[in-house]
Amino acid sequence: MSRNIILNSVLMVIALSISITALSLYNLRSAGIKSAIHNAVSISEAVKSGLTSHMVNGNMNQVGTFIQSISNMKNVNKLWISRSDHVNEQFGHIRDLPKDDIDKKVLNSGVMYYELDESVTHTSVRVTIPYNAIAEKGIDCLQCHNVKQGTTLGAVSLVLDISTIKEIGIESIYIVSVFILLTIIFFLIYNKKYIMPYFRLYELFKINISNATQGIFDKIDAPKELSNDIIHITNDYNNLLEVFKDTTSDIDKKLQVYTGFKTSNLQRNPLTESKEIIDNLSNLFEYKKQIEFDSTLDEIYCRLKQVMINRFDLENFTFVEIDVAKHKMRKVIEYGDSFYCEKTMTSSPELCRCARTKHDVVSIDFHNSCQYYTNTEKFYYCINIDISKSHYLIIHITCDTKEKLEKLKEKVTFIKSYLTETAPVIEVKLLMAALKESAFKDGLTGLYNRKFLEEHSKKLLPQIKRENGNIGILMLDMDHFKAVNDEYGHDIGDTVLKELAHILEDTVRESDIVVRYGGEEFIVLLVNIKSEEDALNVAQKIAQRVRENEIDVYAGNKLKKTVSIGLSMYPQDSTKLDTVIKNADIALYEAKNSGRDKVIRFKEEQVSSVDLF
Ligand code: GH3
Ligand code: MG
Ligand code: MG
Repeated sequence: MSRNIILNSVLMVIALSISITALSLYNLRSAGIKSAIHNAVSISEAVKSGLTSHMVNGNMNQVGTFIQSISNMKNVNKLWISRSDHVNEQFGHIRDLPKDDIDKKVLNSGVMYYELDESVTHTSVRVTIPYNAIAEKGIDCLQCHNVKQGTTLGAVSLVLDISTIKEIGIESIYIVSVFILLTIIFFLIYNKKYIMPYFRLYELFKINISNATQGIFDKIDAPKELSNDIIHITNDYNNLLEVFKDTTSDIDKKLQVYTGFKTSNLQRNPLTESKEIIDNLSNLFEYKKQIEFDSTLDEIYCRLKQVMINRFDLENFTFVEIDVAKHKMRKVIEYGDSFYCEKTMTSSPELCRCARTKHDVVSIDFHNSCQYYTNTEKFYYCINIDISKSHYLIIHITCDTKEKLEKLKEKVTFIKSYLTETAPVIEVKLLMAALKESAFKDGLTGLYNRKFLEEHSKKLLPQIKRENGNIGILMLDMDHFKAVNDEYGHDIGDTVLKELAHILEDTVRESDIVVRYGGEEFIVLLVNIKSEEDALNVAQKIAQRVRENEIDVYAGNKLKKTVSIGLSMYPQDSTKLDTVIKNADIALYEAKNSGRDKVIRFKEEQVSSVDLF
């Protein structure tokens, strides 16, 4: 760039000098020619006056000498006179005839004529002026010439050498050329010393700024020849760059701790990098705020799912909740084609390598890192996040290609930032759910309590009614249970109650509801049971299992107990839960009265026979 500027400047100086020279030469030439013509005219006029005085004084015989003396003047190449026909005719002898057409033209027209003769080496001007008859006080041509006033009597011709003008022009060219050369030399020397360092500094700035945008921060070594001001500016720039470099890389490092944003191998502008990290952090902050406002666990998982899809471009993943205490694995979210864990995992979640080791399990180096991953074609990355001591969240990600897995690895730390922020919120939600559940559960047996029955029946009964279904309601009471307490103590009594609860849960379907209704009284809701007979069969099955069940008491002694069961049907016996339960209780009373260890179906007539006191 600097070279171009210098070259252009030199060319401009040359062009300018040539233009000025050409203009000057042209002016010089015009002025020279004008003055030469003027001189020629003056000389011709002088010749004309000389001729007149020779004629007036009557010494025409000396005209030749006169003309000769004028011809000898410097720069006068030729000088001649020519006579007009009038004069030759009047005075008889013919002489001084016109030498050329110009003479003839001037003699005929009576008007002065001039022309230039230019060659490479010399320039001359030819002037012919007419000698017209005048009749004035001092000079009256008409005294001798028989012509009218103004008639052309002759002409004076002159060739004047004006080559000196050209010489002056050539001299000017020499002077101007030398001037141009000196100017250029001066310019180059000045340029080298005073301008070039600025160009060098400009180039250095250009490269340095370009590097800085790519994350390379080098200092500028300013050329020493520059002025102090410029060196000062360069030093300030270097300091600014240094501060910028330190601050941005410091910000970058600190922020990376939060987000785990990994820089690529390419040198990147740390400011751009920091901006990206801050953007990510602000998104993370926004996400955290949102999940805190989410009311259910499902909402939180859905939001986390959206983050995985939109922010991290994950195509196949599953969220799995593992409860080690309860040996339960629950698939919470499944997105895309992702879940390839062996089925046994569902009942034995302790097999999950990721949950067990609490380390990421990746298929990139060892495809068989986890032997329970069943797809050998795909790649996987499992992340474990502890929700509580016994509760884990596993993010199980499947990738179609190794490249996708490699890309995913770069994002994992940031994904974990989201998971770490989510974990406590999930924990709170799980705790709240557990708390809610405990309010509806009986502490001794783990069965639902009476409160749950009241709450749940509000939704259950209308639903059964809509479906035209039935509910068989069994009311159970342990026979002579008081005796157990009396004989073996309350602990054994509690064990007997727990065993009964276990038998009940084990005998009925999962959709049925088992409730500890009071001390040793239980209610079982046989939801959507087909018929009364089926309900009686289930009741008999329970009674039999209780009857056959042996309970360890102490010193190897076994205890066997029985239950009495009353059955009533919803909606056949009543459409009100209270009444149906009361009816089942009446039937139970009947079972007790008729010898215990029995199942009795409620009948209307039993109502009158109930002896309340
Ligand atoms: P019946 O055959 O007529 O039912 O005779 P029963 O002895 O079982 O008489 P009842 O049903 O009145 O006995 C209730 C007893 O259950 C009284 C109470 O001490 C006992 N009980 C109630 N709740 C608990 C409990 O949580 N644990 C223990 N161990 N005993 C309980
Ligand atoms: Mg009782
Ligand atoms: Mg009892």
